[in-house]
Amino acid sequence: MVISVRTKVQGKQMHIAGKWVSSERVIEVRDPQDNSLIDTVPAATAEEMAKAIEAAKEGVKIAAEMPVHQRIAILNKTADIIERRKEEYATTIAREGSKTIREARKEVTRCIETIRISAEEARRIHGETIPFDQMPGSENRMGYYYRFPIGLIAAITPFNDPLNLVAHKVGPAIASGNAIIVKPATVTPLSAILLAEALLEAGLPPQVLTVITGNGSEIGDVLVTHPAVRMISFTGGSQAGLDISRKAGLKKIGMELGSNSPVIVLADADLEEAVESTVSGAFWAAGQNCLGVQRVYIEESIFDTFKDKFTARTKQYRTGDKLSEWTDMGPMITEKEAIRVETWVNEAIEKGATLICGGERNGAFYSPTVLADLPEDCTLAKEEVFGPVVMLYPVSDLEAAIQQSNSADYGLQAGIFTSNLEKAFSAIKHLEVGGVMINDSTDYRIDAMPFGGVKGSGLGREGIQFAIHEMTEPKVVCFKLPK
Ligand code: NAP
Repeated sequence: MVISVRTKVQGKQMHIAGKWVSSERVIEVRDPQDNSLIDTVPAATAEEMAKAIEAAKEGVKIAAEMPVHQRIAILNKTADIIERRKEEYATTIAREGSKTIREARKEVTRCIETIRISAEEARRIHGETIPFDQMPGSENRMGYYYRFPIGLIAAITPFNDPLNLVAHKVGPAIASGNAIIVKPATVTPLSAILLAEALLEAGLPPQVLTVITGNGSEIGDVLVTHPAVRMISFTGGSQAGLDISRKAGLKKIGMELGSNSPVIVLADADLEEAVESTVSGAFWAAGQNCLGVQRVYIEESIFDTFKDKFTARTKQYRTGDKLSEWTDMGPMITEKEAIRVETWVNEAIEKGATLICGGERNGAFYSPTVLADLPEDCTLAKEEVFGPVVMLYPVSDLEAAIQQSNSADYGLQAGIFTSNLEKAFSAIKHLEVGGVMINDSTDYRIDAMPFGGVKGSGLGREGIQFAIHEMTEPKVVCFKLPK
């Protein structure tokens, strides 16, 4: 990442302790499709991060004192503001990241939904009464538990949904009375800054929210190891997730990590629906999607028909300028990432995989790519590709498909296309994942559902009410009454 002295761009500031501030150095935010400079953000130092955490302690007190009706009003007003500025938010997502303008608009719509659900869930943070007299010697007692905010939450977010994945942490944090420090991905910090603008305009007490920009490798350790931070809510790659969990110490951690999601297509499925859904699931955001379809297991009897239809649909995909309404798929986030994907595909081909279509790179653009005959020992067969590459495998039956789906170290979501209920229920029971989508690809999600993975795909759940649960702790209260 380029860190330079000030350029001619006016430059965005970060929001610390209730103030918009600059830093000595800046990070250039560039559009991956042509490398043009969009803006700059401060490159915070480890010292500035430590100061921001100290300052956020005041925000913890303020957040916990905010009555629920105030939290609801602020969140609803935030959603209204984003709605009003929708096209500006979408253009920012599309310019700083990989998404096309049509994909970016969908992300803004989902962000508005995420913030509105957060407002609704704020009024549903319940506890329950406890029958203490169930224990002999514990008569004449009455009590209950309620959930109280954990305090200060660190939100570390990735580049691929630079607005809505920040909203998935900030919305529930505010709804549940917490203060929050956001460290957005260095390549896509502008959408997080826009979200902060809306929250502050909506009346959020400014000490409650910090958005600090800077390289994770430089400021990450201070954030994740600081004792004042009571929870780390991380979304990103497995390597960084593992690194952070080793360093975090005694604090809560939420880990939303990657996957190489499997989809099963059985012979009794609606093939047209399965093709349309899996193609979209494979190439959404140029395949840079934690739910992206990477492995498709197809029953042998329909393998060739599915492959032909899937390839024909993939070849119709229009790659190009992200801001054009015509474009279906934009570039990858950096040329370096596109080169990584190219290297993995070439390795697979050298080891015997068949390239059905795609496999071409132009700068940060990598064409929608379909492969078959993957050898087990190539990187693509085991790791998350996080690019526009999908692999087709013939399987003898459902049992074989489930076994191969479960062979990965990941387990975020799986999809199955079938018209047979019994087979659908068998897949639900046996697939080792956090969610099973029947007659949808893995790339299906609404913002209110529990979302998260098993195995290498993470720990804990997001989806507003589930995130609120993670961000609060039960406090038990017991009154001893006179006999
Ligand atoms: P990444 O490289 O792991 O970075 C994610 C965030 O972590 C960035 O803000 C990054 O900062 C920061 N970071 C990196 N190393 C750190 C450290 N040691 N300490 C503290 N912070 C650190 O991931 P990415 O490339 O942005 O995103 C892609 C990954 O995210 C994929 O694996 C994808 O599957 C996963 N993802 C998962 C979900 C989900 O909900 N399960 C959703 C979306 C994406 P810098 O940018 O400054 O390096």
